[in-house]
Amino acid sequence: MLLIDREQPMSYTSAQSGDNYRNWWPHPTMTAFTNDSIDLMERLARDTDNVFNMRQTGYVLATRNEDIDDVLAAVGSGTEVDVISGRQKIRDSFPALAEDIQNVIHIRRAGDISGQQLGQYMLEQVRDAGGKLLDGDVTGIARTTSGKRFDLVVENAHGETIVRARKIVNAAGPFAQHIATMLDTELPIKNVFQQKIAFEDVRGAVPRNMPLTIDMDAKLLDWTDEERELLRDDPEHAYLVDVMPAGTHCRPEGGRHGNWVKLGWAYNTASSEPQRDLANEPRKDPQFPEIVLRGAAAMIPALATYVEFPPSRFSHYGGYYTMTDENWPLIGPMGCDGAYMVAALSGFGSMAACAAGKLCAATICGDKLPPYAGNLSLERFSDTGLMAELTSSSNKGLL
Ligand SMILES: Cc1cc2nc3c(=O)[nH]c(=O)nc-3n(C[C@H](O)[C@H](O)[C@H](O)COP(=O)(O)OP(=O)(O)OC[C@H]3O[C@@H](n4cnc5c(N)ncnc54)[C@H](O)[C@@H]3O)c2cc1C
Repeated sequence: MLLIDREQPMSYTSAQSGDNYRNWWPHPTMTAFTNDSIDLMERLARDTDNVFNMRQTGYVLATRNEDIDDVLAAVGSGTEVDVISGRQKIRDSFPALAEDIQNVIHIRRAGDISGQQLGQYMLEQVRDAGGKLLDGDVTGIARTTSGKRFDLVVENAHGETIVRARKIVNAAGPFAQHIATMLDTELPIKNVFQQKIAFEDVRGAVPRNMPLTIDMDAKLLDWTDEERELLRDDPEHAYLVDVMPAGTHCRPEGGRHGNWVKLGWAYNTASSEPQRDLANEPRKDPQFPEIVLRGAAAMIPALATYVEFPPSRFSHYGGYYTMTDENWPLIGPMGCDGAYMVAALSGFGSMAACAAGKLCAATICGDKLPPYAGNLSLERFSDTGLMAELTSSSNKGLL
């Protein structure tokens, strides 16, 4: 087995991951898929003395709505939850939450991992099993004259090499379409840039034991009248005075003794051409840190202090959600003999990596496949009923 990467493995999208995991999805297919991945991660955690720091802390979904039927319906079957209602109970369990939060839904099978450590462990396993790494850029793929093999053109500092392969797996993240194009195949995927911030919470706004907490309500951001006027006159930022979508999320980073926190809000919906240099990606909005802080402060009021006095040590970063419209991955045959893919892992690729890899390997080896295999491959596009259901649903499990 040969793993070809033009960067350090795990240094591109995977280095931007929030490293959160959950089995909370609106559709049983994704619940079963992520449950399998969590099973595999739990087994690996046991076998490795938890070298990748898997912690089942749960997710907290916070809402101001008294009626939570819709939220519970969106939690999907097969996801175990606890519901905490009433101000006093919420205050006792989650003291940082705003006073107007009426209900909290706690997803039990959820938490976080160190994706980098998990990736490192897997690379060691690949090497131990005789696999090799090749540092290089795949710039072309051609069929051999017999049509049974592929010749991959790989370029690196030493020049150009041709790698011959019987089977290939396209796992190029945001560049999966570039690889597919080399085989004259089109994948129904797009890249949507999403941003995060991490900062030193010197004022202790976020309790160190707070699970990943998500605001389930759409909201208006808290601007002064003057700010509102200025934003309304700026076509690029006018959307900030409209109702913003749900999904602001926050969690402490670095354990009980650390003091960093991470905030995210995947509100961008515009797709774009992926850039290799993520740090200078044109869609990285210098206003994002303030926007996400304002959004999160509606749920955790103590964060408002950082809107006025921004944190001095912080990092603002981002990467692409490479996704299909229905926000399900594409795993399995790529539509041309001998070529497979593990693609479109959107905002769930760290949590789904173990099951995705296992599913692709089982497909290639002709092993027994889990019941959801067809739904997560190109096969689903022939199932018009399923596609109609997925397309019409407003909840795609996007976070
Ligand atoms: C801001 C953000 C937050 C996220 N948070 C979470 C989270 O909390 N939980 C979660 O589970 N997931 C999360 N995700 C999603 C997760 O990070 C991705 O789904 C996952 O990292 C995708 O992994 P990948 O291996 O498919 O892609 P990548 O990590 O991008 O790897 C693709 C690799 O292919 C290489 N490559 C591409 N083209 C070529 C070529 N032509 N030749 C050679 N090499 C090539 C690249 O160098 C790269 O190393 C988040 C993503 C983002 C952007």
